[in-house]
Amino acid sequence: MNRTWTELSPSYDPWDPIRSLRQYGRHTLTSVEFTVSNLCNMRCEHCAVGDTLVMQEGPKLPLADALRKLDEVEHLETISITGGEPTFSVKTVKDYMVPLLRYAHERGVRTQINSNLTLDLERYEWIAPYLDVMHISFNYTNAEDFHEVGFVRSGRPVGIKSASRLYERMLENAAALSKGGMFISAESMLNTRTQDHIAQIHRLIVEMGCRRHEVHPMYPSSFASNLPILSLDQMRETIHRLLDSRDPDMWILLGTLPFFACSSSEEDQMLLRRLRNEPNVTVRNDPDGRNRLNVNMFTGDIYVTDFADVPALGNLSNDRLEEVFDRWIQHPLSRTVDCHCPAAACCGPNLLVANSYYPGEDFTRRKAII
Ligand code: SF4
Repeated sequence: MNRTWTELSPSYDPWDPIRSLRQYGRHTLTSVEFTVSNLCNMRCEHCAVGDTLVMQEGPKLPLADALRKLDEVEHLETISITGGEPTFSVKTVKDYMVPLLRYAHERGVRTQINSNLTLDLERYEWIAPYLDVMHISFNYTNAEDFHEVGFVRSGRPVGIKSASRLYERMLENAAALSKGGMFISAESMLNTRTQDHIAQIHRLIVEMGCRRHEVHPMYPSSFASNLPILSLDQMRETIHRLLDSRDPDMWILLGTLPFFACSSSEEDQMLLRRLRNEPNVTVRNDPDGRNRLNVNMFTGDIYVTDFADVPALGNLSNDRLEEVFDRWIQHPLSRTVDCHCPAAACCGPNLLVANSYYPGEDFTRRKAII
């Protein structure tokens, strides 16, 4: 099918829920994320789904069940595939990922996978024709960092040599796939480990040929729930430093930030002004529960995100995805952060970030100062 694809860019990010909120006048399901693997060759200290990782996993639901449910989502614009490492099993790549991505592609729906990119290049090449965004985590300045961060929860020692091989493969894969035209978006977390090295991490991401640097605070979830988070002052200072040293041609996407236009802090307002005025810098509203749901392909359970503590809201076997989404929108937890200030293009905070930095705050009573 011949289709004209709009290029992803700072002015076109179909994962940002502000777009569907503007278009339909209410939060609308436009995005579905599938968890297709609980296997991974790494055990990162910050893994937001670390507690769900296993050494062997059971069967998944038939893909046809998921596709039938996607058919019912009228305004579907994006799908994401996540894990674990979703490409860990070749069978999952061939029997689930490629057909799911092809389905999306044929429907004009944009696609993303979340991968550590450390496995053989071939499996990433199989999905390349149907993939819009290869999302990777990148929080390192060298192989030693990667070794320290990536295997700390392994349960068995992983030597620096093995870790270095994987690190090198990730760099080579990223460079080769970028060269072949793949859009790689490398995400760095802002935490106590990365705060002093963010400029160097950014440079390596540029050198790999990535097209976007995604920057988020570390989610205090699962393996990361006991790691120290940055204070708001530390986070602001780290973002300013990144902006001071960045490559201006690289798109920087900041997400799940704890800084809002309704803040009475002059430092927050200054940072937000800078973010609004920097070329090639965007601040994405959090998609989880605003335009997106997560489907676990092993159980069929449907969640607001793959890592929140909120229990399943429904199941693929007997619920329509749009009904489950409406159930979440009416949920008391969702309502605590259900604010919208059109002038600031903001539709409220991520729940985990709000709980970490603004416990008990009722955002629905706030308004952007703009
Ligand atoms: S939408 Fe909510 S978080 Fe954003 S500026 Fe308005 S009140 Fe603050």
